[in-house]
Amino acid sequence: MTTVLVLATTTGYQTRAFGDAAVRLGVDLVFATDRCHLIEDPWQDRALPIRFYDEDRSVAAIVEAARHRPIDGVIAVGDRPTVIAARVADVLGLAFHSPAAAAIARDKRRTRECLRHAGLPVPWFEHVDVLRANLESRLPTPVSYPCVLKPVALSGSRGVMRVDDDHALAAALGRLRAILESPDVRAERNDAHAFALLEGFIPGREYALEGLMHQGALQVLAVFDKPDELDGPFFEETVYVTPSAAPDVTRAAIVDAVTRAAAAIGLEQGPIHAECRVNAEGVFVLEVAARPIGGLCARALRFVPGSGLGIRDSGFGIRESAVRSRIPGPDSRIPLEELLLRHALGENPAWYRREDTASGVMMIPIPRRGVFRGVDGVEAARGVPHIADVQITAKPDQRLLPLPEGASYLGFIFARAGHAADVDAALRAAHARLHFAIDPEFRVLDAAHMHYNRHHG
Ligand code: ADP
Repeated sequence: MTTVLVLATTTGYQTRAFGDAAVRLGVDLVFATDRCHLIEDPWQDRALPIRFYDEDRSVAAIVEAARHRPIDGVIAVGDRPTVIAARVADVLGLAFHSPAAAAIARDKRRTRECLRHAGLPVPWFEHVDVLRANLESRLPTPVSYPCVLKPVALSGSRGVMRVDDDHALAAALGRLRAILESPDVRAERNDAHAFALLEGFIPGREYALEGLMHQGALQVLAVFDKPDELDGPFFEETVYVTPSAAPDVTRAAIVDAVTRAAAAIGLEQGPIHAECRVNAEGVFVLEVAARPIGGLCARALRFVPGSGLGIRDSGFGIRESAVRSRIPGPDSRIPLEELLLRHALGENPAWYRREDTASGVMMIPIPRRGVFRGVDGVEAARGVPHIADVQITAKPDQRLLPLPEGASYLGFIFARAGHAADVDAALRAAHARLHFAIDPEFRVLDAAHMHYNRHHG
């Protein structure tokens, strides 16, 4: 049986989507997830329990497991397991990004250095040890404003802050220090979490590119517009819409810049997700992550078989034959997870292209700190023309933290339409119909107090 290893942070929507795709393709999946090694198989899913922070042992455990259950392909979901995935692939001789490239892609400072070295446009940047005492006295003087302070190894815009003057910089450093010292960040045991970049603010419009590197060549799966102004002080990703409304020359420049950035980093085989800013000076690639677009957002992408299907030239020999008999029908819509599985087994992604409709997703931002109590208007939002789905992922009584401290969304809205502008409008109209009940946090504290007083007072 052909088996693909999926390294994922949690068991969530995307692991199920991979599971469904694997059933369709007739391949077996083995998951490796970050969970407590004291509990044997808590989810009863035969997943390999690993610790993302302990790369050596994680790689060794997976390689050992692969002796008994051979692995034919590797997929990593989320930023944290990409290097482990690359090292496992390296040991097992499977096609994937190299460990060195995956490590650079995960570190914003190393990415900047790499892109600068390759002659690509980058803002000025300073590497700062945020946890160091008297840091302020070691900053470049004078700092050239506006600039952006951001942790080198967090993701999802967490801890990313624009600063416009010395006063704001001091406040931002204090705030970032608190984030980097929070229990969940410390639990990652990543030494890089002591550091941040201070870099020049790049004005301009922002785009994201989803792609698959195949034998060193970039296959573009989608270029997304991020139509919201992202000028700070925090950088909430909200709406992604594809196809991009950017002029052809801009889109070509984005593809060219990401191609060169991926080559500079050394990303050659597997998914990439790049973010860039475009202004009169050119395309500034902010990052090229060695992973696909995250979680539920992947649902915005579906693919159809392209004209090249049937020309079997992947060069991966027998692995490719594993899914050979499962050529999708001409009318099928293939989710991103299925495409990733096919690619992990050696299929050429050039055989597929994104469906013709415009598509988009809104990651519903957390408007304020508090406690999530519930939401009204989900059915009304689903009823908005072009809305494909509304998924609320916040759980009742969950504590909500907005950016820059936060690391989650209230949920996701998906839309599909003939034109990208209609997708954008539908997402916003659906969002306007949602009413979130968020209690201020002090009420919880009050309740806790009352409870305490009743029992101890
Ligand atoms: P993350 O990996 O956490 O998403 P990024 O470096 O991609 O971190 O930054 C998150 C967002 O912050 C970007 O999408 C962009 O909107 C904004 N941003 C980051 N760096 C800059 C910069 N130098 N100039 C302007 N905006 C920036």
